[in-house]
This record gives sequence, C-alpha cells and structure tokens, in this order.
Amino acid sequence: MMADVIILGNGPAGISAAAYTARAGLETMVIGRDSGALSKAGEIENYYGFPTPISGEQLVHNGIDQAVRLGVSMISDEVLGITYDGEYTVETKLETYRAPCVILATGASRKAPRIEGLSGFEGKGVSYCAVCDAFFYRGKSVAVLGSGDYALHEANELLPVVGSVTLLTNGREPSAQFPEQIRVNKKEIAALRGDIVLESVAFRDGSTQPISGLFVAIGVASSTDFARTMGAETDGNRIVVDDRMQTSIPGLYAAGDCTGGMFQISKAVYDGAKSATSVIQYLRSRKK
Ligand SMILES: Cc1cc2nc3c(=O)[nH]c(=O)nc-3n(C[C@H](O)[C@H](O)[C@H](O)COP(=O)(O)OP(=O)(O)OC[C@H]3O[C@@H](n4cnc5c(N)ncnc54)[C@H](O)[C@@H]3O)c2cc1C
Repeated sequence: MMADVIILGNGPAGISAAAYTARAGLETMVIGRDSGALSKAGEIENYYGFPTPISGEQLVHNGIDQAVRLGVSMISDEVLGITYDGEYTVETKLETYRAPCVILATGASRKAPRIEGLSGFEGKGVSYCAVCDAFFYRGKSVAVLGSGDYALHEANELLPVVGSVTLLTNGREPSAQFPEQIRVNKKEIAALRGDIVLESVAFRDGSTQPISGLFVAIGVASSTDFARTMGAETDGNRIVVDDRMQTSIPGLYAAGDCTGGMFQISKAVYDGAKSATSVIQYLRSRKK
C-alpha cells in the first residue's frame, strides 16, 4: 500500500504532523500501536486549551478522532523495520507500506522491569517523566532506574531540582557516562517499600536505601532504532534533526520525544507541525 507520507506514532507529534499533511492534500498514513507516553499521564494541566484537566488517554483518543475526520488512514499495528531505496518501505507485523517520506514519531521508549511494588507506587513515588514530576521531589533523595542514555537524560533533568540522585542499574553495567554527582548502585533490586508512598528500595543482598522518588528510565526509543538502522545520525537515544526536523537522510523526518529536548506535549505538537511543513515542501519540490 502506498501513501505520500507515513507517520510512525499516533501520539501528539504524529497526529499534529498528520493534521497538517492531510489538510495540505497529501495521502497520509499514521501507524501506532498504543497510547504511548500519554497512557500513563493521569491528568494534563499544562497544555493549552483545557479549562479542566484532561487525561492522557482521552487526549490520545481525541487526536485519533481528529485525524480520522481529516481523512488520515489510521493503522493500528506495530512497526518492525524500515528500509530506504530512494523511497521508504515500512514493515509492520501485518503489512508492508511504501512512501517517499516518513516521519518518525514513536516517542521515547519507557520499558518497565518486573520489580515488586513498582506498579503499586506509580504516582506515589514512582514516575516515568522527570521533567513532569521533578518539582514534587525538590530537595529530596531520588533514584533513576536505568543504565543508558535515557537514564542519564532523566538524571540530568532531576539534578538541579532534587537533593540527590542515585542511579540504580539493577545488576547492569552503565552504558552511558554519568557525572560524579550521581552515585551509581549496581545491586539487584528485590522490592520497593513504603506504607502509602515510596520510602525505600530493598536490594537482593539484604541492604536498603531510603528514597522518596524512583524515576524509571529503561530502554531505547524505537524511532532511534529505526533511524540507526537506516544510518541516520543519532546522539545517544536522540535522533539528530535540523531546524526543519529533517534527519540526515532525504525524506526522513523525526518529531516529538524521539528528538530529545523537552518531553512535553506542547513541544511534540510543535515538532509535528514543523516536520509536516517540511514534508509538504519536500514533496512539492520533488514533483517540480
Ligand atoms: C507519566 C507521564 C506524565 C506526563 N505528563 C505530562 C504533562 O502533564 N504534560 C505534558 O505536556 N507532557 C506530559 N508528559 C510527556 C508527554 O506525554 C510526551 O512528551 C508526549 O506524549 C510525546 O509525544 P510523542 O508523540 O513524541 O510520543 P508519544 O506520545 O509517546 O507517542 C508515541 C506513539 O508511537 C507509537 N509507537 C511506539 N513504537 C511504535 C512502533 N514500533 N510501532 C508503531 N507505533 C509505535 C505509540 O503507540 C504512540 O502512539 C508525560 C509523560 C508521562 C510518561
């Protein structure tokens, strides 16, 4: 199946991009597999236009309804790989699609491990977004769970706000260079403890460490995997784009959390709009 542009991800960046390309008359396809980062966002209070808070899940559904109304082909599927031969072939679990342009907008990967207490303390000490929640831990001792560039990014967001940051690698070797202010603890985690809110982490060797907050930052952004596979420039987990959201490969754009910077809806929406404007210009110049 062919489209003018395939957008990977149905979050704020992908849907915002689709609204612009569809309204410019381009055959637009969006592929997404779930509600992305917003599935974990209970109440959004800092995005324009909502006098009462809206849940992340509802915002995603509103976005999908909006795209459908604008004539976007919405595909519910998981992208497995992309190849480039002058045009793009996008392989999903169920199908193969082709287009001269692709926008990568699958967000940042936030894979949670199986640790006793982790899901129970979500919103009560366990967070998946440092820039959203750091404020609640001013001056307190927090930990970041992870070992790579994403964990480093989250730790750097926390450092100026919180009292101290420990990196908990849960038995892994750190794969990024962590600054000296961050204590690295490589012990395997047994459980998270606390009465109502998170109070401490217990390790398999019987020791414990008091913490008020645990920021989960495990895994690699899947858009970055796709970009890397195609040889587009990346910087850690971030896809490198120019000021028009273009990657180092012609016709390949990226938008939202996968390009780094602020992990916020407003930034993802702006990126999406900008990437779409670039796609429209690129396709018009190809036709000439
Ligand atoms: C707990 C939490 C609370 C937050 N609270 C706020 C807040 O209050 N205010 C705010 O502004 N921001 C908040 N954020 C941040 C905000 O959710 C993100 O910055 C924003 O959603 C990024 O948009 P995006 O489109 O880049 O990625 P996402 O919203 O993550 O969307 C990515 C999309 O890609 C799809 N996808 C991923 N991989 C694949 C694949 N392989 N194949 C197909 N589809 C794929 C997913 O299904 C998803 O639709 C919060 C985040 C979290 C985690």
